[in-house]
Amino acid sequence: MTAFTPDTLRRGACPSLSAPMQTGDGLLVRLRPAAPALTGEDLLALAGLAREHGNGLIEITARGNLQLRGLMEASVPRLAAGLSAAGIVPQTGVAIEIPPLSGIDPSETADATPVANDLRKAIAAASLALAPKLAIVVDGGGMLSLADMVADIRLDALADGPAWRLSVGGDRRTARPVAVLAADRIIDGAMAVVSALAALGPAARGRDLDAAALAARFGTVSQPVAEDAVSHHPLGIHRIFGESLLGVAPAYGQVHADRLAALVKGLAACGAFEFRLAPHRTLLVRGLSEDALVAAQACAVREGFWCTQTAPGRAVSICAGAAGCASARFDTHAAADAVVAAAGGLLDGSIDVHISGCPKGCAHPARAAVTLCGTAAGVGLVLGGRASDAPAATLPAGDLKPAIQRLGTLLSARRMEGETARNLLDRTAPATLVSVYQGQQ
Ligand code: SF4
Repeated sequence: MTAFTPDTLRRGACPSLSAPMQTGDGLLVRLRPAAPALTGEDLLALAGLAREHGNGLIEITARGNLQLRGLMEASVPRLAAGLSAAGIVPQTGVAIEIPPLSGIDPSETADATPVANDLRKAIAAASLALAPKLAIVVDGGGMLSLADMVADIRLDALADGPAWRLSVGGDRRTARPVAVLAADRIIDGAMAVVSALAALGPAARGRDLDAAALAARFGTVSQPVAEDAVSHHPLGIHRIFGESLLGVAPAYGQVHADRLAALVKGLAACGAFEFRLAPHRTLLVRGLSEDALVAAQACAVREGFWCTQTAPGRAVSICAGAAGCASARFDTHAAADAVVAAAGGLLDGSIDVHISGCPKGCAHPARAAVTLCGTAAGVGLVLGGRASDAPAATLPAGDLKPAIQRLGTLLSARRMEGETARNLLDRTAPATLVSVYQGQQ
């Protein structure tokens, strides 16, 4: 175990086991088990370790990592030892994401797992100084592809040939193309981009790369990605090859170890034998028969998990807030509950809402349709921006709940039959929203 230093405790570093991050409720450790499939015993062991060495709070992040909260400097090595004893090996090195059903999804274009493993080994062997938060996506497509996941470097399997598209700085639609690579050139091609990043310095990200210059080096014709390159949300019921899978997500991404353990035991009684961490804070459950799905969903709801694609809270991203982070200016969980209560019917998946304890915006670095952000002056309202953007209006935190209720009432009354929330927001003047937020009408 690496000794802690002030540097490893700094905010913004990747809070791995060897470099946990200080938060308002102690140290936070983020980990991704190297094995893509976890057993019920694995999850029960994780729940026990979270309870024993932390404060019991467990989070699943937007990228499908686990976070254990409330640890102390002395308890982190004990957590590491406990993981090792349970046979749970955390991934190390650069984060390389693959679809959660890689290798078992018959609809995938290619299995991303061996490509990701080879790339991970090549990066480790190169010993390059890379940005701690560098993200690489290797997307073989399929039912739960990572088309919407932003990455510094992407490899996307192309449907019309045994080739992969290499691109930088974006999701599948927005990343800038660099090359189309045959299977035997994937790793060399990706490593050329990784080396180009390293040459720019240890903080360089995909957005800093000159994609055109890289493309010229490869000399291949870059193919556009089909406009229908969409990814489905992993929440709810999915079927692959006659098998039913259920995606469940702890409300707002956080659950206490006791409830996770109760969920695992309840789902095991319904036949569950395998759990896979997935994007959008989801846990995919395998082994449920068609007859057991209703009981499994009831178990999930009982333990505070969402399990349907229509769960309104899934459109709301929140960080730990005042309950778990010293930087937070207000209770993000209470605000999220108020949003769901006042405007749950508007959260149809067409818009996202971000509730951030401070302008750092940990839970949703990208723009959101609506952001409520804690600042020294109160809770700011940002429309179509990031938590770090200047708010259009700011209220004392104590006035937030009625403001949310006013906005919910206004928008619900204005909504036309069948209208999406996106359209409703687009045709509502920002000045109207600001004025209602401030209680001026
Ligand atoms: S965004 Fe939330 S979790 Fe991140 S530092 Fe700010 S208050 Fe803490």
